Amino acid sequence: MTHLEVVPGIHRIDGVNANCYLIADQELILVDTGLPRNARKVLNYITDDLHRQPSDLKTIVLTHCHMDHIGNAETIKQATGAKIAAHGEDAPYMDGRKRPPRPKGVLRFLFRLLSPAMRVEKFKVDVLLAGNDRLGSMEVVHVPGHTPGSIALYDPSRKVLFSGDVLRYQEGRLAGPPDRFTMDLEESRRSVEKLKSIDFETLCAGHGEPLRSRSALASKGP
Ligand SMILES: [Zn+2]
Ligand SMILES: [Zn+2]
Repeated sequence: MTHLEVVPGIHRIDGVNANCYLIADQELILVDTGLPRNARKVLNYITDDLHRQPSDLKTIVLTHCHMDHIGNAETIKQATGAKIAAHGEDAPYMDGRKRPPRPKGVLRFLFRLLSPAMRVEKFKVDVLLAGNDRLGSMEVVHVPGHTPGSIALYDPSRKVLFSGDVLRYQEGRLAGPPDRFTMDLEESRRSVEKLKSIDFETLCAGHGEPLRSRSALASKGP
């Protein structure tokens, strides 16, 4: 595993798919947790790369309820004592009150085939978030559409935006989430615009490489 500090104090943990980010201030905050069975990579990063105690992790914040983002939340919570935070509208998909959303079209069949192997155990969300809440140095931005309770996190002091699956940097451009994994396309488009209007310089998305310099992108692009 490679040690990757995106900007000072913000680390991307690679190879857990989706990306996880550790915000290393006095307390540690983890943004998303990757696919199931990758908890060890996150825990090792805290101890071996950051030389911190597992108990320094106080909050695990989940950008939304999809499996590739929540897969290790409960395991990491057990190992660290951190609290799990997520938006109130996605919490029911995590604690089992609602059935998880499924992709549309042909993927639906494939998903049904694979889901028993990839199932995430239900877990309790300790802290229910809403738009404009604060979490450490970050502001919670409610960006529904991909899922009803999708959130982004904005750190104004570092000008970093954690966008989950709502905004990605791909092939030199900013893009929204894939249609077939998105529950409400209209709402999602509005959320993409909302995120684009935020004054961020670095984009840490749920998938792909971080965008380190948005201003460089803007001066280059059409
Ligand atoms: Zn997603
Ligand atoms: Zn994802």
